[in-house]
Amino acid sequence: MSTFLGMPAPRAVPAAPPAVPVAPRGVGHLRASEPFPVAARRALADSQLRRNLGKATATIRAKRAAAVAELPDWEELREAGQAIKAQTMRHLDGYLEQLETQVRARGGTVHWARDAAEANELITGLIQATGSHAAVKVKSMVTDEIGLNDALAAAGIRAQETDLAELIVQLGGDRPSHFLVPAIHRNREEIREIFLREMGDVDPGLTDNPAALAEAARLHLRREFLSATVGISGVNFAIAETGTLCVVESEGNGRMCLTLPKTLITVMGIEKVIPSWRDLGVFLQLLPRSSTAERMNPYTSMWTGVTPGDGPQEFHLVLLDNGRTAALADQTGRQALHCIRCSACLNVCPVYERTGGHAYGSVYPGPIGAVLSPLLTGVEDNASLPYASSLCGACYDACPVKIDIPSLLVYLRARHVEEARSARRVPSAEAVAMAAASWVMADPRRYGAAQQAGRAGRALSRGGRIRTLPPPLSGWTQARDVPAPPARTFRQWWRESGRARS
Ligand code: SF4
Repeated sequence: MSTFLGMPAPRAVPAAPPAVPVAPRGVGHLRASEPFPVAARRALADSQLRRNLGKATATIRAKRAAAVAELPDWEELREAGQAIKAQTMRHLDGYLEQLETQVRARGGTVHWARDAAEANELITGLIQATGSHAAVKVKSMVTDEIGLNDALAAAGIRAQETDLAELIVQLGGDRPSHFLVPAIHRNREEIREIFLREMGDVDPGLTDNPAALAEAARLHLRREFLSATVGISGVNFAIAETGTLCVVESEGNGRMCLTLPKTLITVMGIEKVIPSWRDLGVFLQLLPRSSTAERMNPYTSMWTGVTPGDGPQEFHLVLLDNGRTAALADQTGRQALHCIRCSACLNVCPVYERTGGHAYGSVYPGPIGAVLSPLLTGVEDNASLPYASSLCGACYDACPVKIDIPSLLVYLRARHVEEARSARRVPSAEAVAMAAASWVMADPRRYGAAQQAGRAGRALSRGGRIRTLPPPLSGWTQARDVPAPPARTFRQWWRESGRARS
């Protein structure tokens, strides 16, 4: 496939299963504290939130569509991205060992963490060993996943977020609600209020002009960058063949965190490894257009181990499992690990657009969060998330690595139903209703009688819709209405129109 910058053609996926041992299920900020419908109902009542989200996602969607349309071989790129990820997952153990060997050979130290608690303890110890009580951070989903900032705070270490949106979230005592734009639920006026309230050194005459807000953040962070001795980052891609780590970002704060401190600690989910530099070429075309609608991202930082006299002189790479090997062992679900966190599926999702990210409870929101979180924690711990979708398929169309999210949602729903069924002694009301429906539909006379009985529902309708039904059907009409049954059933119409004879 030479149509896109000489990148390699998609490789055939070998049949061998992965040989990575399975660690315990994921913990940390992956579990929702309340079911999605409860949190979503609260979010839907916030009209300001819906306005903020609607405006932001519509703008990003339009820009992304234009950026993607510029590439005639976009579909081939998606195929290549999908194939590289699938092949990597098949041999994940080998690529991780290769990465470890290369990082060590170039002066870095590699640590393995089975779960959030182990990773937090490890990172806290590494910072304490430097004698520092503070660290600057690049935006990192995986450190949000393990709740690193809280763990560090408990040990008396201050973690300073430096990405503008993460800074807004941190100052506001808030939680991120989007991969790329963690403060997407905030508008300019709300951000100005947070800065005036929380930044001790801000100009009291600060306006809500975006440039003024960015300048206030820049001045606030400058001192932190210059005094920091420890930096913490995540990773977008880790190249196994040379042990090179890659972070892409738009503001330049990441470059400062990665180069100014003496010690750099990088936390990486094990699925972020890719085999080679040639593979990186594919993802550096897919990611910027899908996430920020840019042809290339403004800052791409890459480093390999330690370089004497240049940048951090101590480098630690923490390889995190936290449920990933359990997801990998699931032959169907493992494709969720292909995600490159571009956020395109969030921006096109009609459910996300209305509820925002907080309703999902997990640190990974939106369509991919609705499959990734249950796969990392076990379906029973995030059982409501696979239902947080209309299954419209927009997420699959938008995904640059072609993750079939709708099929995964249906698969996880089926798993949830099966697990719930096998755990029950008494059949659920839903199971009884489905068995009854099956019995009725299996016989034409029974089905005809049920249709006749259903016509009684016309008495409850107003303007052709039924807005309230009695229990147990009231659960349906709490969130939506029902069309009134027609005056005649299909069978009556068929008979009366004479079609049965023709
Ligand atoms: S699932 Fe696909 S579209 Fe969604 S964030 Fe991941 S890579 Fe992007």
